Amino acid sequence: MAKGIETLPAGLEATAYNIDPLNNTSCHWCEKELQTVEHFALNCKVSKEIWRTSYHFLETNQEESLSVFLEEIFSASNISNYKSTQAAMWLHMNVMNEIWCFYTTHR
Ligand SMILES: [Zn+2]
Repeated sequence: MAKGIETLPAGLEATAYNIDPLNNTSCHWCEKELQTVEHFALNCKVSKEIWRTSYHFLETNQEESLSVFLEEIFSASNISNYKSTQAAMWLHMNVMNEIWCFYTTHR
């Protein structure tokens, strides 16, 4: 289901090219996990913790689930309260930035 790197927005595209699965690089924090864009952005235990923490600030008055797919990061289509879509998209971009900063300063 993963879309190609070329479909990602510019900021994440740069990230994606630095995380090249062809290099067979494993995640710094998860043993035996190949570093992919999906792992980096969504599935890594460190990324998940940043997502969980940030969603505490997203007050939509509904139970919201974290993004599961890359496209949900950019569309906020995982947010059930549509009135909060813009706030969620802003939050998502900041989460991606936070994950990237955390990744680059801790490796
Ligand atoms: Zn990981």
